[in-house]
Amino acid sequence: SSRPQSMSLVSQCGDEQVAGEYSKHYVTLKQIGKGAYGCVKMAYRRSDRLLTVAKFILKEKVGAQFWVDGPDGRRVPLELSLLLTLKHPNIVSVVDMFENDKYFQMVMEKHGAGMDLFEFIERRPRLDEPLLSYIFRQIGQAVEYLHSLNILHRDIKDENVIIDNKFHVKLIDFGSATFMSKDTLFSTFYGTTEYCSPEVLAGNKYAGPELEMWSMGITLYVLTFYVNPFSDIEDTIQGPLAFPQLVSEDLEQLLRWMLCKDPANRCTVAQLMSHPWIKQPVAINTYVFHEIVDCDRHEANPEMYYSGSLSPRSGSPVSLADPLAKERSVPSETA
Ligand code: ADP
Ligand code: MG
Ligand code: MG
Repeated sequence: SSRPQSMSLVSQCGDEQVAGEYSKHYVTLKQIGKGAYGCVKMAYRRSDRLLTVAKFILKEKVGAQFWVDGPDGRRVPLELSLLLTLKHPNIVSVVDMFENDKYFQMVMEKHGAGMDLFEFIERRPRLDEPLLSYIFRQIGQAVEYLHSLNILHRDIKDENVIIDNKFHVKLIDFGSATFMSKDTLFSTFYGTTEYCSPEVLAGNKYAGPELEMWSMGITLYVLTFYVNPFSDIEDTIQGPLAFPQLVSEDLEQLLRWMLCKDPANRCTVAQLMSHPWIKQPVAINTYVFHEIVDCDRHEANPEMYYSGSLSPRSGSPVSLADPLAKERSVPSETA
């Protein structure tokens, strides 16, 4: 299945993306995922071979309202400025930033093997509700933190969350994020239609948190059933919420509350975080990643392959599916 597109940045990146100071410090490797993202690539730091993820942000694609004053007075995209300032275990962190005339080069920590929840879901993980709760509550914690700082993410969905082999998740992609205030309503939606709330699809203005809760509800639904709850815009606005499989009463009640058509009666972040389904106990150490989801060796155990050095020990097994298998020989070219 194909990934739904955010309405924001869909940019083409050429070789110009790596030009400048950035390339003195980083060697750019293959594209992330199946090549759908020309603008997000693996990269390693020349000084210590730390493996990172670089996002190349084309300046001309950044909308006028998405620029802010950076640390040294330069104009920087809000996406970059936010990720530089935010500090939370469930939000990706930025390790470096550079720019040339066309691009900002945002270097992020690489979390796990680079698997996002879209791909995780595509592999039909064998999740039970405690594990599902454990994964999802971390998204809730990230959003709770953001809202406490009056920041709206506005593009919460499976592919904007990355997961590692300890089921630790981080929110990424702040390209649609913005600051909110009590007395300002937004009229433009910047996220992904499939995750947009019925009232906003119907053309109403929004404050923010209620829209974010809806998209979190869609995310939880997709994580639970591996299908979207609504087939199109009309269905989102009018259609009833159906449950393809039996789930616990708590989970069903929570999903109905998060996906309540009326924003005034929709669950709030505070209500979500104190919900019994979210707070249920989880024996997280009893779950083994490669038993829950089919994956290759480097996904099951990325640290075994990537920590310290990128060069494989002789004879160490490298799966053909490993996107970095070829690049591992590259670092012999020293800076
Ligand atoms: P876009 O704005 O084009 O959607 P994203 O920031 O969402 O770009 O990145 C695109 C994809 O790249 C993500 O869906 C994810 O699969 C992968 N990705 C992005 N950042 C990271 C990261 N720090 N670690 C691992 N994978 C990442
Ligand atoms: Mg994205
Ligand atoms: Mg984006």
